[in-house]
Amino acid sequence: MTAPDHILLLAGTFEARQLAERLSSTFPGLHLTVSFAGVVRDLPDLGVPTRIGGFGGTAGLAKFLEDESVTLVIDATHPFAAQMSRNAFEACSNCRLPLLRLERPAWKPLEEDRWEPVVSIEDAVSALPSASRAFLAVGRKEISRFYPRSDIFGVARMIEPPRQPLPPQWELVLARPSSSAQEEMSLLRTRGITHLVAKNSGGERSYAKIEAARRLGLPVIMIDRPKLPRTKTSTTVADTVEKIRIVLASNRS
Ligand code: NAP
Repeated sequence: MTAPDHILLLAGTFEARQLAERLSSTFPGLHLTVSFAGVVRDLPDLGVPTRIGGFGGTAGLAKFLEDESVTLVIDATHPFAAQMSRNAFEACSNCRLPLLRLERPAWKPLEEDRWEPVVSIEDAVSALPSASRAFLAVGRKEISRFYPRSDIFGVARMIEPPRQPLPPQWELVLARPSSSAQEEMSLLRTRGITHLVAKNSGGERSYAKIEAARRLGLPVIMIDRPKLPRTKTSTTVADTVEKIRIVLASNRS
């Protein structure tokens, strides 16, 4: 009897949670391990074996893949989690394992949008004009790069507090993004925001702020996604499940 397939699902997105649920119901008996970085505390209980924390770079991940007899890796991390995606690509290449990526499409500007695209956090920091009041929707890892801009006022929203506290006169909003454009407009209005800084994460769950900026006519400094190694990629959970079905069938043949 051959061992069941073992899928390692690199998580950290809403789509990864949905995929974990779909895989359990679509392929009963499948050996599935979901992996979280462990950055946020309130992790969902997906009802499947879960591990938390880094692997220890590419070498650590390759060791995990071998030790655990993983047969397929799904990279469903956030589009800006570039290090993990690169490590997954290299480890799978080294171990000759199939890798599928699940990546939601990037947002595209509408005609009324006032986007200023930039390719990096550094460029976003420089793009803010002096004396601007910026809503910085960039996350706890990147926020400190904006701290040297003592000539601006920043409002930062994130789920967990940043390691280095915000400059004293800035404001920290500890919350998940609202799904209501009205609520986001009210947040931007009450703080007198003049610029929104956002990563092009894609998806619906954090889009309300982009819609709010559009309705208020505010400029958006939009940070492009990092370039990742080319690999087989799906943009939806349903398509990923179908691609997984093909890989599992070919592993059996
Ligand atoms: P990153 O810079 O690409 O990864 C940094 C390190 O964290 C990786 O090298 C790896 O450590 C560990 N790691 C990341 N994802 C992991 C996972 N799913 N399982 C186990 N270890 C993981 O990632 P990040 O930007 O810090 O994001 C961390 C997590 O938050 C990711 O799972 C991502 O999907 C999620 N997230 C990120 C963003 C964002 O904007 N970056 C937004 C929402 C959610 P080792 O090298 O030790 O293996």
